[in-house]
Amino acid sequence: MRKLTIAAALATALCCLLPGPASAGPTSTRVSYAAGEIVPIPASIPHEEGDMVDRRIVPNLRWIAQRFPIYVTDGYSGPLPNGEHIGCRGCHVRRSDHYNGLAVDIVALNGSNRCDAAWTGITRLAEWAEPLQNKPAAPFRWVGYDGDAHHGCGHHLHLSWEHAPAAHFELAEWVSVFPVRLQDVAPHPRGGTKPGQTKQKATPPTPKAKPAAATPPGGVSTVQSGGVSP
Ligand SMILES: [Zn+2]
Repeated sequence: MRKLTIAAALATALCCLLPGPASAGPTSTRVSYAAGEIVPIPASIPHEEGDMVDRRIVPNLRWIAQRFPIYVTDGYSGPLPNGEHIGCRGCHVRRSDHYNGLAVDIVALNGSNRCDAAWTGITRLAEWAEPLQNKPAAPFRWVGYDGDAHHGCGHHLHLSWEHAPAAHFELAEWVSVFPVRLQDVAPHPRGGTKPGQTKQKATPPTPKAKPAAATPPGGVSTVQSGGVSP
């Protein structure tokens, strides 16, 4: 009897130490109708050289990078106005949000391709963005991680943002994002005890909201580069 009680108590204690799926995503979202543009990912967001995204998700990415140990390996995939092709060719499925610059592939900063401690923060990010499998928290449209083929701990995390329908290589008319200012004010994900996570990054001074808009290519539109390739 006694043993059972202890076991039960232990189980209870354990259950509450686990992160729990309750640390759901952003507390609010908004729709950005600002003009889109494919821009280089700013240096404040660790990334593979040359990676670009639609500028409208840059503030969200920066916010994420300040809280999770991310390294972006791919963003926009497609042609630029100058004809140059960037991003991973043939890596993404048809209708992938990568073709609109509204998706990123993420690995653990300083991690390897083993699902080890370096990936803890990425798993936390994945659970935050998608507390329940196949039910991403707004504004995320699709989250690819554990449970999704070719994604997961030790492989990569895919995050994409909800947006207006857009053809390949076109900028979406609107993008759903989470307001960074509000997010900043909102209390930190308090709920769960976080065991190993001491990600207390001395909150870096609030970044200027403006993305490094100092993009060379003047032309905004990435709209339909000539070839409709399969
Ligand atoms: Zn992806």
